[in-house]
Amino acid sequence: MTDEGFRFQPFVIPQTEFQQPSVNAMSVDVEDYFHVEALKDNYNIDMWSGLEHRVEKNTHQVLDLFSETNVKATFFTLGWVAQQYPALIRRMADEGHEIGSHGLEHKRIHTQSRSEFQADIRKSKNLLEDTGGQAVKGYRAATFSITEETLWAYEILTDEGYAYSSSIYPVKHDLYGMPSAPRQPFRPLGPHGALVEYPLPTIRIAGRNWPGGGGGYFRLLPYAYAKWAVRRVNNELNLPFMFYFHPWEVDPDQPRPDTMSAKSQIRHYSNLDKMEQRLRRLLSDFSWGRVDQVFTLHGDTEVLPGKVDTGFPSGNTAMQKLRV
Ligand SMILES: [Zn+2]
Repeated sequence: MTDEGFRFQPFVIPQTEFQQPSVNAMSVDVEDYFHVEALKDNYNIDMWSGLEHRVEKNTHQVLDLFSETNVKATFFTLGWVAQQYPALIRRMADEGHEIGSHGLEHKRIHTQSRSEFQADIRKSKNLLEDTGGQAVKGYRAATFSITEETLWAYEILTDEGYAYSSSIYPVKHDLYGMPSAPRQPFRPLGPHGALVEYPLPTIRIAGRNWPGGGGGYFRLLPYAYAKWAVRRVNNELNLPFMFYFHPWEVDPDQPRPDTMSAKSQIRHYSNLDKMEQRLRRLLSDFSWGRVDQVFTLHGDTEVLPGKVDTGFPSGNTAMQKLRV
């Protein structure tokens, strides 16, 4: 496979093809505080085994919250986490959540060769399937690292049996982003390509895409922005909102390195103590579900366990009913 041989021909999927546009998608990127890109100079991979691990406790806290609020979600989980904490993966599966892959060791795609990337997504999928006992269909790249330079990743994801990806943030950002990508779900390999990309949500203002929220944006901006953004995506695109966050974001007591840029400090540590309360508001203000159940296409034949028919008609009226 060569770069010359790859043609990116995104086919935007019409909204009318989605069966259940009335519930938003809740996703969690399961990694520890030391996997974050902004901290990679502070915590390199050789140090990980000697650091205090907090992902297990934090993810149980997230699972408790979802159990209490009766929310099913998609956990894009590192293969590394499955190796260390298999019981945690089994709990996700037992409680009806979807397990997706966040890669093996949080390497951004452009730091890997194609064969390394292939081995990474194959191994993480196998680890997660062996521990969780369910098929892994979804993939989220570390640091949203599918960009214009790494679009070849879609062919490999398809070859390795992934059905969808949620790895592109169509915004301008110093660490990631592809502002030219479609804002709606699309087939990156053309209308007949099997794999679907569900981009992270954006708001369009003055001809430019702005982050719709999740992660640091959700902590840094007032809660009212997130609520407005969810409604805006629901109403403007008539599509579910793809929310995301990380288990370390509910952990204000996590260890902090001595040296770090001011920008990274703000992004990583602001409002960690307010996160759970904000999540509770978000979970109660809107309906949430697993990515694979929220974005079901009419062509999908698989009947998913726990899939609920809301009885809402498709189209705008379904979203009107969701407004609070
Ligand atoms: Zn991540």
